Amino acid sequence: MFDAAPYPFPLETDLSAELQPAAGAQTCHADMVGGVRGLHSALAKASPVARMATLRERLPGPMVFMHGFGIEGQLLLHWICENDLDIDIATLDTGRLFPETYELWARTEARYGRRIRAVYPDPVALESYVGEHGINGFYASPSARKACCEVRKTAPLERALAGASAWISALRADQSSVRRDDGLVRFDAARGMLKLNPLFDWTREAVLDEVEAHDIPVNALHARGFVSIGCAPCTRAIKPGEDERSGRWWWEDEGPRECGLHMREKRVPAA
Ligand code: SF4
Repeated sequence: MFDAAPYPFPLETDLSAELQPAAGAQTCHADMVGGVRGLHSALAKASPVARMATLRERLPGPMVFMHGFGIEGQLLLHWICENDLDIDIATLDTGRLFPETYELWARTEARYGRRIRAVYPDPVALESYVGEHGINGFYASPSARKACCEVRKTAPLERALAGASAWISALRADQSSVRRDDGLVRFDAARGMLKLNPLFDWTREAVLDEVEAHDIPVNALHARGFVSIGCAPCTRAIKPGEDERSGRWWWEDEGPRECGLHMREKRVPAA
């Protein structure tokens, strides 16, 4: 299957260079340096499931797959469960997800007999945000939107990843330039851990084929024109031919269609 789905983005980079963290950033554990020696070349030609298994074999410490219940994530979850990989599966419940997403969450746990760890926003920070901006204050300005994403997503991500040696994401390179810059595997210097994107070089069509072949559960909203699905108030269906992330934060004219989870620079907490 993997041979049918290569994507024309460079996979080979010098990971050892990334392991020289910038001043002030966390340093990586010595075991990590040994584990990632030659990692890029080992992973570049491997299938996505072999990429996860190889990283799991080489790297000590907890690994976390951050799941957002997209089609790509459902495929990674399927492989993690079917291959019994020792990888924690966690998700960020912002409190504003679609009912269909919660239904998929429950259906996925039932199918695979596995609990998906839920991580929630800090209640005090959330009360403060809503108190200042209002319950739908994210529509008011880009800064208000980013502040909401900070409270509901990026701050909880730090707790979800605490103590991990690596995290796994379901992003693909052809979703956006921000995602393409993330690479197949890199050292996340801000968090002092590796980040692996096993589907980095896969197309959406290849993912859909694999999901269909294994009858993997997906969000019912996909059949209604939703492609990239996040929080309900910030996601809408798109028309055929539109960029697949154009349904996210559609009212904003400029800037990446990202909440900050995959931005490379160190997260700066909202004031
Ligand atoms: S996607 Fe929308 S509701 Fe969800 S955290 Fe970001 S701004 Fe808030």
